[in-house]
Amino acid sequence: MSNVLVLVDHTAGVVRKTTAELLTIARRLGEPVAVFIGDGVQDALPALGQYGATKVIALTNPELSQYLVSPKAEALQQVAAKIEPSAILISSNAEGKEIAARLAVKLESGLITDAVDVQEGPVTTQSVFAGNFTVKSKITKGIAVITVKPNAATPEAAETSPEVEEFDVTISDAAKTARITESKPRAATGRPELTEAAIIVSGGRGTGGDFAPVEAFADSLGAAVGASRAAVDSGWYPHAYQVGQTGKTVSPQLYVAAGISGAIQHRAGMQTSKTIVAINKDNEAPIFELVDFGVVGDLHKVLPAATEEVTKR
Ligand code: FAD
Repeated sequence: MSNVLVLVDHTAGVVRKTTAELLTIARRLGEPVAVFIGDGVQDALPALGQYGATKVIALTNPELSQYLVSPKAEALQQVAAKIEPSAILISSNAEGKEIAARLAVKLESGLITDAVDVQEGPVTTQSVFAGNFTVKSKITKGIAVITVKPNAATPEAAETSPEVEEFDVTISDAAKTARITESKPRAATGRPELTEAAIIVSGGRGTGGDFAPVEAFADSLGAAVGASRAAVDSGWYPHAYQVGQTGKTVSPQLYVAAGISGAIQHRAGMQTSKTIVAINKDNEAPIFELVDFGVVGDLHKVLPAATEEVTKR
């Protein structure tokens, strides 16, 4: 069976859920080999073994953490030359997509970004043109470099006891182009990260600026909070939480849109959600065209009632 490289998405050894999803996908394609960059590989090992990594390659060269992106692409190129994988899977976040693009150029390989599914082949599925088309594709040149969106697969456990192999890479001066001068984590909200959350409750202009019912309902479900651009532009919620074409693209199990009309640019960021629920007082709002469940009503009444019901259970 061919090797499939998975770039581990982590913060100081705390592995993100997206890595479990990538490992689950990698098992469909071959033998998953995890590539861990930075410190904390021993902390990450249980999580990587839980989802079937057969081996973990640890890259600890200081340049990999001191500089943005380019050294990581260079390092992965060297790992790929040794491991000869059939595919390389990377999380579809801003850094992951840039690493993937640079890596594909270095490997002279085809690149597919933002896959919402990857099956044997590997054949990928993407949702393109603001979600109006679903495209299946297959890379025909070189090692398939694929970035995969969060929630593209449900993580399936498969216990392994992977060995850690330290791998020394050479980082060229040409790759040391952008040094990180400061790195500060965002203040914790206690809620899941928007792009990784299984459930998202988003508020729009219909909130009138009061996000308290949206947040309370989100908290009753253990969900993340999102916002439409109208809400963000009005200064009601930070831009980091905007869902849509010029915000984040999300694909949770459940997306609740409260007081959001369903403009095409908002849909572009959320319409691959598995189940969509809308609460809107206008029964002709376009959002109702794509929902699985719709509630016609005032969100200031519907959300508190729903929160109370969920909290009771
Ligand atoms: P509105 O369209 O004003 O809708 C508010 C809805 O709330 C209405 O349907 C109304 O019936 C309902 N409502 C009002 N009061 C209540 C109540 N009490 N209870 C229940 N329902 C109520 N938008 C994004 O969201 N994300 C993007 O990334 C994005 N990118 C864009 C990029 C470009 C280039 C452009 C041109 C636009 C972009 N937009 C984006 C903006 C987009 O076109 C819409 O203007 C925006 O999504 C509208 O936000 P909204 O649905 O909250 O507001």
